[in-house]
Amino acid sequence: MPTFLKYDYIIAGGGAAGLSLLYHLLQSPLKDKSILLIDKESKNQNDRTWCFWEKSPNIFEDIVYRQWKQVDFHSSNFSKTLNLSPYSYKMIRGIDFYQHVQSLAREHSHVEFLQADIYEIEDQSEGAVVKTSVGEVHTNWVFSSIRDKNEQEQAQNHHYLLQHFKGWVIKTSYPFFNPQKATLMDFRVAQHDDCRFVYVLPTDEHTALIEYTLFSHELLSEEMYEQALIDYLRRFCQLDDYTIEHEEFGVIPMTNMPYPSSAGKFTINIGTAGGVTKPSTGYTFTRIQQDSEGIVKRLRAGRSPHRPHDAWQQRFMVYDSVLLDVMARNRHPASDVFTQLFRNNPPQRVFKFLDEKTNFWEEIKLANSVPKIPFIKGLSSALFK
Ligand SMILES: Cc1cc2nc3c(=O)[nH]c(=O)nc-3n(C[C@H](O)[C@H](O)[C@H](O)COP(=O)(O)OP(=O)(O)OC[C@H]3O[C@@H](n4cnc5c(N)ncnc54)[C@H](O)[C@@H]3O)c2cc1C
Repeated sequence: MPTFLKYDYIIAGGGAAGLSLLYHLLQSPLKDKSILLIDKESKNQNDRTWCFWEKSPNIFEDIVYRQWKQVDFHSSNFSKTLNLSPYSYKMIRGIDFYQHVQSLAREHSHVEFLQADIYEIEDQSEGAVVKTSVGEVHTNWVFSSIRDKNEQEQAQNHHYLLQHFKGWVIKTSYPFFNPQKATLMDFRVAQHDDCRFVYVLPTDEHTALIEYTLFSHELLSEEMYEQALIDYLRRFCQLDDYTIEHEEFGVIPMTNMPYPSSAGKFTINIGTAGGVTKPSTGYTFTRIQQDSEGIVKRLRAGRSPHRPHDAWQQRFMVYDSVLLDVMARNRHPASDVFTQLFRNNPPQRVFKFLDEKTNFWEEIKLANSVPKIPFIKGLSSALFK
């Protein structure tokens, strides 16, 4: 049971967003606030791997497991090694991240962890109450990464694609991989009218994480993901002889449905539940860090932690909707869209765009590099639906 009846902050859900926010709070002058983090799981499994790109070392640099300055892109009619500098493509393992933040938090006596199921978060006139399987706790502010179970049904008038993937960490008995170079996207696999690709992230000469990824409406059976991985390794890597050390399966929503950024005056939604996931790519980890930084900055300034609205920045939501529309309605093969993007633009421009940091001229160049008709149709659908 928690020690207090009321906390300054309750973090509901201790995954990527909850633990990132906790980390940012503990690095700030707010580090002495009383904080309760509630999760139904103990978060002691390596349940996912986060990859992201960035230019400079980040606050989690110590736990970056591997990083690459070069990545390959492949499709049926285009192959290129992309030099990412000044960016690096980085990988953090879930378990390293959980342990890193949990051990920092243990140094702070006013931070408590509670393993419990959260049933409801209720806003009150002053603060909020969190109802859990072991009782109720009160707080000034709740930061919740708990997703609505009916999320997909609520997206009725929006695109809602699933990014689903199965990955294996495989090991070879002889040196096989080049750990200096990863494969970012390999579209040479059969597309079956979806968007399907494989990525390969070698961590040493013997070991790599290889993931078969789809952007589509339906999940596959387990055997289909596995057969695709076996086929890829055989056909494109000429590799039959390996052991599977670890498995990963994940589903990330890709939707232009606006997630409620708050669930009340005193409850702020964070992570995927707060709409932080990039709709057109599923990348979330870097955006979670930026979002956590913003929340802490506003709290420090004595302002409300709610996100301010930025109308000009909203254009990226339109771009995301257009790409989702092109993929969801199959207006043009996604493999060709990504091929044109990487054939006609330096990877730095593509990354900057996906980071939502490009200027309008760079966005025009990107728009000019993809097939016009399907994107014009996608744009009119995004603007006038
Ligand atoms: C396998 C996988 C790989 C991914 N890889 C990448 C990647 O490479 N790069 C990237 O940028 N993004 C990636 N993502 C997307 C995104 O970064 C992750 O999903 C990220 O974990 C989202 O953070 P979150 O805090 O919103 O959700 P989570 O990390 O899932 O955290 C939510 C937490 O809430 C807890 N919870 C849920 N319901 C309750 C309840 N009722 N009571 C108590 N606790 C509850 C859960 O146990 C969980 O710990 C990946 C996602 C998955 C699933």
